Amino acid sequence: MQQVNYSLMQDFTLTIPTLLEHAATNHAATEVVARQQDGSIFRYTYADLANRSRQAANALMRLGVKYGDVVGTLAWNHHWHMECFYAIPGIGAVCHTVNPRLFEEQIAYIIDHAQDTFLMVDQDFVELVERIVDKIPNVKQFIILGAHGCVPEPTRLGDVLYYDDLIAAQSPEIEWPEFDERTASGLCYTSGTTGNPKGVLYSHRSTVLHSMAIAQPDNLSLSALDCVLPAAPLYHAQSWGLPYAACMVGSKFVLPGRHLDGEHLLQLIREEGVTTGCGVPTIWTMVLECAEKHGLDLGVLRCLLIGGTALPTSVRDRMRDKGVDAVQIWGMTETSPLGTIGRPNRQVAAFPQEQRDVQLLKQGRLPWGVQMKIVLEDGSRAPHDGETSGDIWVKGPWITRGYLHGDGGDQLDGEGFFPTGDVGHIDQYGYMKITDRSKDVIKSGGEWISSIDIEDIASGHPAVSMAAVIAAYHEKWDERPLLVLTLKEGASLQKQDMLDHLSGKIAKWWTPDDVIVIDEMPMTATGKLRKLDLREKYWNHLSR
Ligand code: ADP
Repeated sequence: MQQVNYSLMQDFTLTIPTLLEHAATNHAATEVVARQQDGSIFRYTYADLANRSRQAANALMRLGVKYGDVVGTLAWNHHWHMECFYAIPGIGAVCHTVNPRLFEEQIAYIIDHAQDTFLMVDQDFVELVERIVDKIPNVKQFIILGAHGCVPEPTRLGDVLYYDDLIAAQSPEIEWPEFDERTASGLCYTSGTTGNPKGVLYSHRSTVLHSMAIAQPDNLSLSALDCVLPAAPLYHAQSWGLPYAACMVGSKFVLPGRHLDGEHLLQLIREEGVTTGCGVPTIWTMVLECAEKHGLDLGVLRCLLIGGTALPTSVRDRMRDKGVDAVQIWGMTETSPLGTIGRPNRQVAAFPQEQRDVQLLKQGRLPWGVQMKIVLEDGSRAPHDGETSGDIWVKGPWITRGYLHGDGGDQLDGEGFFPTGDVGHIDQYGYMKITDRSKDVIKSGGEWISSIDIEDIASGHPAVSMAAVIAAYHEKWDERPLLVLTLKEGASLQKQDMLDHLSGKIAKWWTPDDVIVIDEMPMTATGKLRKLDLREKYWNHLSR
């Protein structure tokens, strides 16, 4: 490699504490609002957020948390959790956001696999952790997010610490330790592919660059004058990176806690002056229903970033009636998550409205920082003709190169691209549209359901010959699982028998909405199940 011709620009390390300190200095009085477990509103400022995050960082260092340690969080979207987002990576540790909606076995697996040594526990999840405590022996200290008395004692979690009391004794000043910007900062598991959930490890550098990217007007468009409501959970791709971008731009930030129903969200939107929201379509449909039912407007809300699943036309139109621009984003945990965004470029902006509307229901175009290619079966790249679909591969500074501990093996191809498991095409204007999914999963209300896991258990029933779990369209949840079965010769099976068989072996919300017995499974010439045929046949099964 050539010797560097050094510039005179300063080396400014791209680390997460720089975001927090920027907000504390330049947006000190701007509010951060959180809905607490009991529904009440907690309100403080970026100056307070920074003080408490520094106190928490000092507390963690005193407890012995070191550079490279993994600290888990199991919590809703609130100020405690946001403080963890700064305190933990700020000292060079990894903030591992665990998804509490997973099946308990999986939660234990993830905490163990990531080797979490400390676990920050939401008041609401103490009982959950009590049930799995024997399976997570690496965790040597549980810290409950609240003050002493917030949950009944004793717990089964040993000598627990209470976050508020723990940090109260600490100084709100800190010399943030210095380290390389490529240091791991956050860890988020995804079940978006087959097998056990896999860990995606973000860095300080990827987080800061991603924050800069999402803030841009053509991306999530975040400014100091915005009031942002992250309805995507903090354990889903770090709520799309919003807690970090919010400090970067100094927007007001409104955390909805566990109260993700239409009523509570609408109240926050109207009373706090939310301008920008983000989340899966399911959540915004509930907000719309509530607003429509009570004849209420959406206050000053102007933009909704919708992702996780495709933006339905009806949500776009109903939001438009309320003066809100619904913008689609596509991404994954593996892409931090911004991958593409459905905003107009100059050509698309000049389209007649009808054509523009169709265009912007595609998953969108690429921001700087993301490169994409569509690869066909023969390994060649698809032309950008808006028709030829293939596997979507991506590359960039906030896109993962693999999974924690090397799970799943090498991911990148020879050109350094990562396989998304999504299938789609790109048109002449540079807009990508998803047409299918090669990963065998179902996405219900923004959460993954593993077809394979359910099939495995269903096949264990003595009457079953073959089992296939497929996605069917659902108005509220976007997708719900259907279980399609063939039976052994002479066997019979009632739907309820199968539901009883699954009960207790999978999370309740994974239970298939229907069980369909057919005579023969559609197979390929090579003896593989043709799921696409089943998906096409039964896609509208639940809406019929
Ligand atoms: P997130 O937590 O951001 O939803 P996941 O990793 O759980 O990320 O899910 C990513 C997957 O969700 C994508 O690979 C894709 O299959 C699906 N997805 C995300 N956004 C969209 C979208 N706008 N349209 C269609 N599918 C989407």
